[in-house]
Amino acid sequence: MQTDNTLAPLENPTFTLDHIPIHPRSVKGPFRDFKTAMLLLAFAVYFGLPWVPWERHGVIPNQAVLFDLVGRRFFIFDMALFPQDLISLSMLLFVSAATLFFVTGLVGRAFCGYFCFQTIWTDAFIFIESWIQGERPARLRLHKQPWNLEKISKKFATHALWLALSFWTAFTFILFYGYAPELTARFFAGSLPSVAYFTVLLITLTTYVAAGLVREQVCMLWCPYARFQSVMYEPETLVPSYDFHRGEGTAGRAAHKKGLQTLEERHAQGVGDCIDCGLCVQVCPAGIDIRKGLQYPCISCGLCVDACNTVMDSMGYPRGLVRYDSEINIESATPGKVHFDLLRLRTIGYGIAILVMFGVLIFNLASRSDVQLSIQPVRQPLFVLMSDGDIRNRYQIHITNKSVEEHRYHIAVRGVPERALDIGAMRDVNVLPGKSIMVLASVTLSPAEVQTIREFEFIVTAKNKPDQPIVKKVRFNSKGEGR
Ligand code: SF4
Ligand code: SF4
Repeated sequence: MQTDNTLAPLENPTFTLDHIPIHPRSVKGPFRDFKTAMLLLAFAVYFGLPWVPWERHGVIPNQAVLFDLVGRRFFIFDMALFPQDLISLSMLLFVSAATLFFVTGLVGRAFCGYFCFQTIWTDAFIFIESWIQGERPARLRLHKQPWNLEKISKKFATHALWLALSFWTAFTFILFYGYAPELTARFFAGSLPSVAYFTVLLITLTTYVAAGLVREQVCMLWCPYARFQSVMYEPETLVPSYDFHRGEGTAGRAAHKKGLQTLEERHAQGVGDCIDCGLCVQVCPAGIDIRKGLQYPCISCGLCVDACNTVMDSMGYPRGLVRYDSEINIESATPGKVHFDLLRLRTIGYGIAILVMFGVLIFNLASRSDVQLSIQPVRQPLFVLMSDGDIRNRYQIHITNKSVEEHRYHIAVRGVPERALDIGAMRDVNVLPGKSIMVLASVTLSPAEVQTIREFEFIVTAKNKPDQPIVKKVRFNSKGEGR
């Protein structure tokens, strides 16, 4: 029997869609409460966010979170993100990955147990199932009994509600990509493009299958994270563990019965504290027995800890037979108090990496400008030789308003005479929020000026921020392929 925290293989690793469904028993305790709180929080954020209004004073819908794929811009409250902000998004992904590794090194697959979409939605589906079909014994009985009116009606109601939640999940997903009230009206009027209906159908089906039918097998067979998480575990990592020495004693575990009721009676006969009630197995959403050692399908949800503590309380035994603990501590003959061992090479490394990347991310976001300026010289031709000997260069000026309000920008030059700039009536331009404008500018210099001026600067200043001009240096071409 496996007693340590190294990831043990499953006794029967053959999982297929026709496996006996796991019907976890409900349990009460702090880990269950935390899981429920995370579920409610995730649902409130996911289903509520598209409906949160956010004043934008312009042509952009007043929706707090809006992913405008056509306009290639994302709006998150007062922040507007464009493809140019890819570096910040990449940094965010790096921070998330490093945080995941850091947390896994500390407390195992806590992300899987409490925060992963698959776990959260599966949890909600199990709530629905037990609401319609009853507690675990009733669900098992229903599963085994022949098809009759009761079984058909309860199964039908369960699957109908699962499909309804799957549809609501899928429908909410598309609301992030447009103005929610308008999209809703158009969706039910049948006037959205077919890709929207296809997306909803696809996500409805995948949610229904993943959270309703396949459940824990997604974590076991499909999720790559389950496969490589073991490399992040260290002997100090806190994971749900069965205290083998305490539970088994020298004579193994035994049921709570006459002559084996108090700890004194049990210990006198070498029997451990585990009364073999099986509750820790019955509550497990992955269907594993934590007493056989940590196994890779374990998602560190802590429900077996809650279950065993409830049993220990009812027996009057000390809590913690199943607990979050480290391999080092649980294997010790005299286990000490459970504690976070933060000062390890790996956690320190991850911690520093997270802090540095998070710092860079915050700096990037804080220092990003509301306006993006890019200037390209027109190269066909590189310059034009005028009849009076002057030389003209032309430039394409792209101004992108990355704020959520309309702005007016003034275009000027530095390093060449003001009269050299010919920009027509476009010295002051209005740019709508989230939009770009392109202005064609000509700069003409005399032969004498060309001798001394090799480059100069364009200066674009937002009228509301006269003290924050955006300056771009450009070359003035007078040699090469001109016309
Ligand atoms: S063994 Fe315990 S912690 Fe692991 S998945 Fe099962 S109930 Fe959750
Ligand atoms: S819940 Fe505790 S006492 Fe019951 S079988 Fe599991 S480890 Fe043993």
